[in-house]
Amino acid sequence: MAKKKRFNTKTVHIGQKPEKLYGSVSLPIYQTSTFKQEKIGEYTYDYSRAGNPTRTNLEQNLSALEGGVDAISFSSGLAAISSVVQLFESGDHVILTENVYGGTYRLLTTVMNKFGIEQSWVDTSSIEQIESAVKPNTKLIFIESPTNPMMSISDIRAISNFASEKNILVAVDNTFMSPYFQRPLEMGANIVIHSTTKYLNGHSDVIGGAVVTSTKEIGEQLHYIQMSVGAVPGPFDCWLTQRSIKTLHLRMKRHDENGRALAEYLDKSKLIKKVYYPGLKTHPHHELAKRQQVDPYGNYGFGGMISIDIGSFSKATQFVSRLDIFTLAESLGGVESLICHPAKMTHASLSKDRRGELGISDGLLRLSVGVEHIDDIIEDIDSALQKA
Ligand code: PLP
Repeated sequence: MAKKKRFNTKTVHIGQKPEKLYGSVSLPIYQTSTFKQEKIGEYTYDYSRAGNPTRTNLEQNLSALEGGVDAISFSSGLAAISSVVQLFESGDHVILTENVYGGTYRLLTTVMNKFGIEQSWVDTSSIEQIESAVKPNTKLIFIESPTNPMMSISDIRAISNFASEKNILVAVDNTFMSPYFQRPLEMGANIVIHSTTKYLNGHSDVIGGAVVTSTKEIGEQLHYIQMSVGAVPGPFDCWLTQRSIKTLHLRMKRHDENGRALAEYLDKSKLIKKVYYPGLKTHPHHELAKRQQVDPYGNYGFGGMISIDIGSFSKATQFVSRLDIFTLAESLGGVESLICHPAKMTHASLSKDRRGELGISDGLLRLSVGVEHIDDIIEDIDSALQKA
């Protein structure tokens, strides 16, 4: 089924066959820590850290949506990222996108650095910068595209071609696009990472993560790491995430429509210094975004993430306090519109100098445009801008 059916059908059906005992269409939540063994050592599942049927259902679904061979779901996006890094050993070198989610930067520079994983942070939207960072011990290129919060885009296909010639793995954090608008494995990447907390779950009620792999071997290594380290998601969280994925295609289309309309409005406003949205023709990676961020039916999309520079911290504070529909909160990708101040929130773990280098100014705000009516969204922004 995974190969024959179309994306929207897969979201609803893969890993979701009615259960055998009563024919329940909505699958049961196997809320159990352990499983009865008929004879010593004879079992399908033995212990929920190693595996759980509700988790398997979600993993089968995620793997099918990303076009992968295997998927491993985790207790958070950062658990997924740290498990990918644990594939490597002391002395290995990793190249990473310089502007990633602040928590990813913190994980690598203050935790993973203790284990001797060498790191180079470069602008991965420039293939030249990647080429010059490669060393004989380079094992992984880790890309976030689009980046959080500067919305910079890296050419996944070109990087994957380059990396495969050099036997280097490519991992892509696909959180901002979801598999609806971007499927990195189809472009040659080896590993896809998600904070499923965001668009995949989409309802701001679960923290979760996932990794999808292009090979059985990488999948097996990650299942082993997961079972050994223990960053597993609970069955109920897996069930909720799977339930939400069934409407992923509907939500992503609306996020994209609303994102584009709001970005156009913001771009025209004289009260905004700069708008960062790959759907705008003026975005430096607009053409790449059109090629790379494509839904399963061939239509490009840019999603619902927009960053704006409003000029100063005091303007940002005034503006945010006058919003009604947008909620000031960490996170993104939910049905409700959220706004955050990266310098004080998601990227507070970066030094001021580092934020300055990346363009994360004190006037920068990151909007996660929800699925509300677009007129209400624009009216909310418009009235807060006028008052601020
Ligand atoms: N990757 C990206 C792009 C993110 O935005 C985030 C969180 O905001 C993460 C990873 C980390 O995910 P989690 O918060 O689920 O651990």
